[in-house]
Amino acid sequence: MSGKIGVYFDQQNIGGGLDLTALAEQTSQKWGGLVPVVKVVPVLALAVSEIKADIEAQELDGVLLCGASPRVDSEIYRLPVQVEFVNLREQCVQAYKNPDKTPVDTANGAPELLAIMARDYVNMGVVKLQKSEVPDSAAVTGVQRVLVIGGGWTGLTAAAEAAESGYEVVLVEKAEKLGGAANNIPMGSPLVSPWTDKQPTNVADKISKVLGNSKIAVHMNTRMEKLEGQPGEFKATFVTPAGAQTIDVGAVVLATGWVPLDPQYLSSMGLGQSTKVVDAATFGKMLVADQVNARRIAFVLDTTIAEEAVKKAAEEAEAAPAEEAAKPAEGEEKGFVKANLESFRHVTYSNAVNSVGMLRLANTVCEKTNDTCQTFILYKDMTVPGILERFYKKMQDRLGVMMTKADVTEIREAGDHMVVSCKNTLLGMDFDLDVDLVVVPTGLVPTTAKDVTVCFDYRQGPDFPDLNLFDGFADSNYICFPYETRRTGVYAAGCVRQPLTMDACEEDAKGAVLKAMQCIEAASHGVAVHPRSGDLSYPVFNFVRCTQCKRCTEECPFGALDDDEKGTPKPNPARCRRCGTCFGACPERVISFANYNIDQIGSMIREVHVPKDFKADGPRVLILACENDAYPALDMAGARNKPWSPYCRIIPVRCLGSVNAIWVSDAMSKGYDGVMLLGCKYGDDYQCHFVKGSEICARRKENIAETLNRLGVQPERVEQLEVAIDEYDKVPDLIDGFVDRIMAMGPNPFKGM
Ligand code: SF4
Ligand code: SF4
Repeated sequence: MSGKIGVYFDQQNIGGGLDLTALAEQTSQKWGGLVPVVKVVPVLALAVSEIKADIEAQELDGVLLCGASPRVDSEIYRLPVQVEFVNLREQCVQAYKNPDKTPVDTANGAPELLAIMARDYVNMGVVKLQKSEVPDSAAVTGVQRVLVIGGGWTGLTAAAEAAESGYEVVLVEKAEKLGGAANNIPMGSPLVSPWTDKQPTNVADKISKVLGNSKIAVHMNTRMEKLEGQPGEFKATFVTPAGAQTIDVGAVVLATGWVPLDPQYLSSMGLGQSTKVVDAATFGKMLVADQVNARRIAFVLDTTIAEEAVKKAAEEAEAAPAEEAAKPAEGEEKGFVKANLESFRHVTYSNAVNSVGMLRLANTVCEKTNDTCQTFILYKDMTVPGILERFYKKMQDRLGVMMTKADVTEIREAGDHMVVSCKNTLLGMDFDLDVDLVVVPTGLVPTTAKDVTVCFDYRQGPDFPDLNLFDGFADSNYICFPYETRRTGVYAAGCVRQPLTMDACEEDAKGAVLKAMQCIEAASHGVAVHPRSGDLSYPVFNFVRCTQCKRCTEECPFGALDDDEKGTPKPNPARCRRCGTCFGACPERVISFANYNIDQIGSMIREVHVPKDFKADGPRVLILACENDAYPALDMAGARNKPWSPYCRIIPVRCLGSVNAIWVSDAMSKGYDGVMLLGCKYGDDYQCHFVKGSEICARRKENIAETLNRLGVQPERVEQLEVAIDEYDKVPDLIDGFVDRIMAMGPNPFKGM
């Protein structure tokens, strides 16, 4: 707890809108000995030396900087004590909108409502700092060894990269041979200028490089049995032909790749029905083994007929009686429960890989046969990423390749050959193509959809939690943290993460290794990895009051909390991403962070002056804003002169998942007229950095609404609204709309009690 605080006001950034002398005086008067230093400085960023001198002379143990948003230049203020920021620029002066009814100004011309808002924010800042502790370090060993699971193209790259960066590597591969699917790819895509020519995959070189590196221990015919512990000090147990082995590792790269989508999904294109129809992966193997005798080959990228057949099957399954629909057919595996559109999406996701792959396969056929073999590439969407466009253009000119956009309406066997019916082609006519062989796309399904890949020894089970069983990708947040999984310290790379071409898999492997190294270093310093990189805090439990209700362990999105047989949580700080979901969940309020806790935010809420006269002084609305999306959106709105109602007071929270219901009750009993929970989108296209914080908050809000109803308070006084980081132009209207609804409802019945 900060016992002596220095408060500094930035004249340059906020002095034009506020009477800072008056604000400084009010602050001194209110806080007395707790705040021995209150200064208005001309330019805060130039006052760092002065602040440091004050810290020493006055023995300050906390500093409150009132000016621009902490998101702007907080890095400048590297001070030896706790630092907090009061955002008086973007979310106060710049966001101020004078309501029609109360144009009352103070003597110096600054609007009175603005002065009141600034005073509230400064007081909230002081109490926030007062209730904040410097977190202890929870540093762990930081074992300098990376476990790579999977010895295919991506895993080999990851192992080599980690070893070259100085880390020891243990690579486990379940097959008897390294190289994985790359062994069946006859030629790689062009990887060097002019990006038009074939490229040997050189998988054998990659294998030799790994086998020859003394920092890499390779285990073939090996399966994972257990991963226990936490980042920096995991214990990995795997079973080799010589028996089980347990080693310490700091982080894990998951590169287990893909398996082909069950052929049933493409059976309407002839796959599995005719020997003259194969998928692209099988065709690659045939080329490597020199088993292709066909003279006319159709590569069909348009899968509309299969999609329609799958859709029909899904509709029929939907219409079937419930018990029948739920029963898995014989031989069905996880992820392949029913023919349905969700599974078929793997073909769609794989379109870029198949587009490039089919160009490459057709090219190899032409090379092998001196263009005497005729290939036809029939596509609906040709997706060629980046500079590989040049390769595509070269293939357009290749003698043995005929390429056209086409709707493929039928693929049928006709005696010793296949007929592919095409409509709406670029040739201006419909036609039937007679070929010897048809190649259809391969749907790349991540191994995580089929197998338990890492075998976590966690309370939450051995597998990754799936957002959607049929996608099965081991994601945490596709947009912001591409290599993250929902298990801290385990980074997915290559086709287990998303269908990727080989060059993209290499990049992925490097990215995931960087993340693994960053994680080991972060764990050894006791700080969080992203999104709160560098955060020293972690949840501390007061077990004396814990009722073993298990809400925290069940709601932690990252499996950071194990528990004992009674249900008492067992924290693993290095697995924790510091989201606060557990403390939002805890009904006993026994979880806290040193610098973010229930009492602290509750005190900030209570520190706001809530006027009793709703009509004369307006309502008060509390906004709990997610610091990841909503808070920056508010900053951008303010900075772009898109103001909002001055009756609101904003408190950033780590995630809406960290909102404890007690804060809402505190606000309502204090007399606030409404509470707005402003967070990220949730659902299928969620944007929450902590996976399901806003979704959990929406569920908790239902309970809050019931409580309010029972107390005779309209539940509509508490609303949760979604905003993405780029929706800054929308957020002021969201706020003003809510304030208008509150104005129409009138004052909170608890006001003044
Ligand atoms: S802060 Fe988040 S990640 Fe950490 S234990 Fe709590 S819920 Fe889990
Ligand atoms: S939510 Fe709170 S009371 Fe329940 S188990 Fe976790 S710490 Fe204990």
